[in-house]
Amino acid sequence: MCGIIGYVGEENAVPIIIEGLKKLEYRGYDSAGIAVCVEDGFGVVKQKGRLAALEERLKDQPLKSRMGIGHTRWATHGEPSDENSHPHLGSRNKIAVVHNGIIENYKDIKERLVPKGIEFSSKTDSEAIAQLAEYYAQKYRGDDLLDTVIRVTRALEGSFALGIMCADDPDTLIAVKKDNPLIIGVCEHGQFIASDVPAVLKYTNKVYYLSDNEIAALTKDGVRFFNMDKEPVQKTLETVTWSVDSAEKGGYEHFMLKEIMEQPRVLRDTVQSIKGDNKEPIESIDVTSIDKLVITACGSAYNAGVVARYVFERICRISVEVELASEFRYKDAVVDEKTLVILISQSGETADTIAAMREAKAKGAKTLAIVNVVGSTIAKESDSCLFTAAGPEIAVATTKAFSAQLVLLYILAVRFAAKLSRISRESEQELLAEIAALPDKAAQVLKNVDSIQKYASTCVGYKNIFFIGRNIDYAIALEGSLKLKEISYVHSEAYAGGELKHGAIALVEENTLVVAISGCGRLRGKIMSNIEQVASRGAKVLMIGSCQDVHPDGIISCIGLPEVPELLSPSLSVIVMQLLSYYVAANKGLDIDKPRNLAKSVTVE
Ligand code: GLU
Repeated sequence: MCGIIGYVGEENAVPIIIEGLKKLEYRGYDSAGIAVCVEDGFGVVKQKGRLAALEERLKDQPLKSRMGIGHTRWATHGEPSDENSHPHLGSRNKIAVVHNGIIENYKDIKERLVPKGIEFSSKTDSEAIAQLAEYYAQKYRGDDLLDTVIRVTRALEGSFALGIMCADDPDTLIAVKKDNPLIIGVCEHGQFIASDVPAVLKYTNKVYYLSDNEIAALTKDGVRFFNMDKEPVQKTLETVTWSVDSAEKGGYEHFMLKEIMEQPRVLRDTVQSIKGDNKEPIESIDVTSIDKLVITACGSAYNAGVVARYVFERICRISVEVELASEFRYKDAVVDEKTLVILISQSGETADTIAAMREAKAKGAKTLAIVNVVGSTIAKESDSCLFTAAGPEIAVATTKAFSAQLVLLYILAVRFAAKLSRISRESEQELLAEIAALPDKAAQVLKNVDSIQKYASTCVGYKNIFFIGRNIDYAIALEGSLKLKEISYVHSEAYAGGELKHGAIALVEENTLVVAISGCGRLRGKIMSNIEQVASRGAKVLMIGSCQDVHPDGIISCIGLPEVPELLSPSLSVIVMQLLSYYVAANKGLDIDKPRNLAKSVTVE
């Protein structure tokens, strides 16, 4: 999940790399480091902790060069420390490497190299790459850097996106990848490698998306691509539509708040997209040949799938399973050519979801992806792909990308229901009109920001919070609870309101906070009974939904939602829960955009 960046060109690489790392810090922040090519080898500064700590160090140890690589780490092998920080160098200081991924056979490589007198200085898997490259470069003297990289990548097992520099070839920066993302950016003054587009947006929107087992050789004059047989590969230069501003905070204190506030626009753009790029993939699916739908994803994307199950089942009358991708991949899933597997991933690079997709395809299932990043692995490998028009999402905890996923799932469900003749033309049009009205209603919810902030300020000191709901409200409660956990570190659980009495109600005591979601008018009476059950045991209740029949008696507070059909209500209730989590975390003074132990694009298993 680390972020890597590299630059070669006419400018000083150091500020460009630091700027880029700032945009990649969401991918990991255990440590940061930079290596640049200097006259007698490499200048390296690396430091445990946030990028700011590296910047401080660079004040005392300034670096300057026209070529360099940088890294921001989410540790998988070896604790966060200065030694384990990237870039890693071989023991002869000839090769410098930044790595995103996991080298599964690093122990074997180490065991082969140590008896040859090669000393390792870190506990990472990544160092094995630099040491092996140096070893090969010395052993096969006729090789150039490209040959060495090919030899090394052939020897590696696992996943990697790599930036590689060689002190003996100070004009060339090499990039190669397998199962982890890497883009190549080009601009007038130089070329870049990066884990993600926002890292280079300030300089260029022209990028190549590197494919697995492709190698890019960058010099200040341009970039060339090769396959593993060292044959040239032709690639298409793509133009990214994301704007520079979309990756900036734009006056907000945190990206998360900015991204929450952007939701009306994101919903609008996503709704619009079905008249444009998303039309064909939706229409091309022959849903009449499908007898089962499986949705698989991780984290919030999984929660979007849980909400969607209620929608597909209700209006399409089709059987839906929702599986965590990390479980799907190992369960020998019952899917075949009559199954449509829907994969949801913001980055399109989630390792578990990629594995689930490949497993589903191997079993003959059709795959449809919902992703936010064009050119990502899932976008490229799935049979068809819908893009959420969320723009870059920088905060680790997702908000706008989740909302965009949900809206695409709604639209998909409505179109499927129509194609299956489960709903009339008229109902289809009505539902699509309600979906198109969601952006304005979301804007209305956002007007409540002050009352939500005020409520959050009364939530100090809670150690446990329950989110309850019935039916689709329970599904969205899962996302509310996850959001709170992720950024405020308050333990919370989402429970189906009717299930509490079967166990968890034992945890409810005086002043436990229970957030009850009630977007589902049909089951209003049921959730009200569940509220009574917890309130009579001393719980304090925040209700999200219609406040009409709520008589505030000091126990129940209510945040109202605009009128909306029950199946679509999660798109609105989730915004209240996002804001609530945000302000609970803000009141605790936490680092909201970069919560502890998390990283955004989970590219490791
Ligand atoms: N395995 C490498 C490390 O621990 C890179 C981790 C990653 O990409 O998340 O340093």
